[in-house]
Amino acid sequence: MPDAEAFPLRAAARARTLAGLDGQLVRCRACPRLVAWREEAARVKRPAFRDWEYWGRPVPGFGPADAAMVITGLAPAAHGANRTGRMFTGDRAGDLLYATLHGLGLASQAASTRRHDGLELNGVRVTAPVRCAPPDNRPTPGERDACRPWLVQELRLLRPTVRSVVVLGAFGWQAAMPALEAAGWSVPRPRPAFSHGVQATLPAVDESGALVTVFGCYHVSQHNVFTGRLTPAMLREVLVEAARAAGLPAGGRTSGHGQR
Ligand code: SF4
Repeated sequence: MPDAEAFPLRAAARARTLAGLDGQLVRCRACPRLVAWREEAARVKRPAFRDWEYWGRPVPGFGPADAAMVITGLAPAAHGANRTGRMFTGDRAGDLLYATLHGLGLASQAASTRRHDGLELNGVRVTAPVRCAPPDNRPTPGERDACRPWLVQELRLLRPTVRSVVVLGAFGWQAAMPALEAAGWSVPRPRPAFSHGVQATLPAVDESGALVTVFGCYHVSQHNVFTGRLTPAMLREVLVEAARAAGLPAGGRTSGHGQR
């Protein structure tokens, strides 16, 4: 197996901290199609962003290392997180997500324009099972599987504190379930199916038996929001329930729980 292909499994398993994991992740070139796409988008740019220096690399998770709640989508957008370098930042999907988190007191500000814009999350980490922007926002099954070790290790490192996971969209759900299983939670067979509002409670397989509750939510994509498939109220409802499951105060402006 060429070194680049073996890199995610080898490098992720060695990481002992989220910062260390992120430092390895941004070097990953395991998927030739996605490497070409992310770098092409960074070179050509959108006219509206021609003055930007695009990130153009794998996008790390964003949020504190002791997060009690994880939010995961599918993959970065070519001119969103692939531009800014921060998950769900710089596109309409992120606008709704962070504005809703802010309304619940889980984010320090409603806007998510760029890295280092001051945004901090309270007890929440936002991540994805595929870290490089794919053409048409669709990774292949092979690319999704190749990227899994990064999310698995991120979840393992969060396992002492994480108690709820919100999965945005059916593709994200399909990717998240095997990652949760590999990270140390017991997933029933058949695996729970995705629907908006579905919940699945998974016990840890270690002696702690600590539970994590997984919530399904329609993706915050511009299409879903524009068509009314996902309304801000629907998103808010899922996030409130997930915050409660994580023991996070939601609904008011709060601080603490390891901001970053
Ligand atoms: Fe590496 Fe994941 Fe990007 Fe593939 S999608 S190159 S595995 S970071």
